[in-house]
Amino acid sequence: MSKPLIHNLTIIGVGLIGGSLARALRQAEAVGTITGAGRNREHLEIAQKLGVIDRVETDLAAACRDADMVVLAVPLGAMQAVLEQIAPVIGDNTIITDVGSAKASVITSAEKAFGRIPPNLIPGHPIAGTEKSGVEASFAELFEQRRVILTPTETSTDPAKQLVSNMWQACGAQVLEMSVAHHDAVLAATSHLPHMLAYALVDSLARQDDSQEIFDYAAGGFRDFTRIASSDPQMWHDICIANRESLVTALERFIADLQDITRAIQQADSDFIKQTFQRAKQARDAFCDK
Ligand code: NAP
Repeated sequence: MSKPLIHNLTIIGVGLIGGSLARALRQAEAVGTITGAGRNREHLEIAQKLGVIDRVETDLAAACRDADMVVLAVPLGAMQAVLEQIAPVIGDNTIITDVGSAKASVITSAEKAFGRIPPNLIPGHPIAGTEKSGVEASFAELFEQRRVILTPTETSTDPAKQLVSNMWQACGAQVLEMSVAHHDAVLAATSHLPHMLAYALVDSLARQDDSQEIFDYAAGGFRDFTRIASSDPQMWHDICIANRESLVTALERFIADLQDITRAIQQADSDFIKQTFQRAKQARDAFCDK
């Protein structure tokens, strides 16, 4: 075997994303030893049994001491506490990255934990996932032909950027860079807003008196539209709190559009209704054809 891209990799949080990254890097022969770290030894031992990780460590600082690369794959609400535990042992030669779905909050947490934004920190976000959680749901192909957005900071070093980029490319992903603010605004609109709509719709229907009947007669369209409401509530709680500024902007814009449609339906404004549906169909067809 040729020299791996990363000798000692530590993944903190070996769930869907952390586990899939480990599997993909192993399949690509891009990694030497993978240490899986976290708070729950039992879950980590399952990951080890599945062959996803080589070593189990619940002392996060010990897990990072000899690492060349540390990947934080925990929910956003856990990032600050994890960064505080590992900060004392992260030297200049250890590269840190994360997979969090919002980026400004991770950088703020790192600055608090390290007393500065570490130059070896390259925040990242794979635009890939499913509504499932945990290492059992992980698979090596998750990132193939998917995008990974890196949001390097002003102090991020080129070698760190290059290695994180190479790591994701080894998983079959296409890597691109964005500013933190742009990332958080774009993802609020394309990912976080649809999750809020799915959760709100299912909850609203479930709380109605005739909810049993509604769900009995729900068909494929309802299933398609609401699949993401089966996503982990804790993870999405953390995402909407972490990205609340951009998400509230996206929600307010959407609520205004929904009010316009409500008004058009009330007034039987056929032109408005048809134009809205036509524009939406064209936009979605173009998205699906891409
Ligand atoms: P997941 O399957 O639930 O995995 C989360 C992992 O973090 C688990 O291994 C969990 O282990 C561990 N963990 C949870 N709380 C922790 C804590 N306080 N301290 C240490 N470890 C903790 O979730 P995921 O889908 O992989 O998401 C992980 C990250 O990826 C999140 O930041 C999310 O925003 C981001 N992301 C998710 C998706 C997606 O579609 N799922 C896509 C892109 C990015 P234990 O429960 O065993 O402790």
